[in-house]
Amino acid sequence: GALLSAQGLRKTYGSTPALDGADFSIRAGEVVAVMGPSGSGKSTLLHCLAGIVPPDAGTVHYRDREVSAMSDSARSALRRTEFGFVFQFGQLVPELTCLENAALPLRLAGAGRKKAEATAREWLDRLEVDDVRHHRPGQLSGGQGQRVAIARALAGRPRVLFADEPTGALDSLNGERAMQLLTRAARDTDAAVVLVTHETRVAAYSDREVVVRDGRVKDHGSGV
Ligand code: ADP
Ligand code: ADP
Repeated sequence: GALLSAQGLRKTYGSTPALDGADFSIRAGEVVAVMGPSGSGKSTLLHCLAGIVPPDAGTVHYRDREVSAMSDSARSALRRTEFGFVFQFGQLVPELTCLENAALPLRLAGAGRKKAEATAREWLDRLEVDDVRHHRPGQLSGGQGQRVAIARALAGRPRVLFADEPTGALDSLNGERAMQLLTRAARDTDAAVVLVTHETRVAAYSDREVVVRDGRVKDHGSGV
């Protein structure tokens, strides 16, 4: 069955309908690419699924829980414990080292410093950025920074990883490597990945592609 699903999502900003009856569903271990033209509603769909933005109408379910009916604090707890996030620009904390950045979600979840940093190191290693663990984000290349952000997102062992144009700021070689490492790590941990991208070569790493157009989702079945 579905791990995360949405039915009939509607969201309007002012007079602009961003989502106009969007349906979506993803299973554990599945990588789904959400494609579509700019302004079609991809990011809004991701934000509704992740409990960041409440929809005006429609429902979001995570396992047997209705995310769309939860309080702000319950949604925020759900994001912290079950979800991970990677955005276009990694959004690392500039004052912290890469190791401290990668350990942050575990520290926030209550893990002790040693344990959190040991786990974070494993993930930095898997993303091939363990060598820069003592650097601050400002000292990294774009590709390194994004891989640290992916390591940080996965170190918390999320059941769903939300990635919004995760390679959008990278050249194609770095983007492909980051996608290879991201999808391999997600498969190893049976995490679902909601991957928003407008790039076909990035979507090629998914199991299935859906296309958002005018706030509605078209499911094209099995991808590559
Ligand atoms: P995409 O990710 O496909 O580019 P978005 O979900 O970002 O699409 O946007 C869908 C529509 O909603 C666009 O017309 C966009 O301008 C509008 N929109 C999205 N977020 C906001 C916001 N926070 N405030 C106002 N309008 C928004
Ligand atoms: P866009 O996709 O429209 O370019 P961003 O990716 O920068 O926008 O962020 C979209 C929203 O997600 C923002 O409202 C931001 O507060 C929220 N956000 C960003 N990072 C996280 C995170 N790690 N956890 C939860 N929410 C986040």
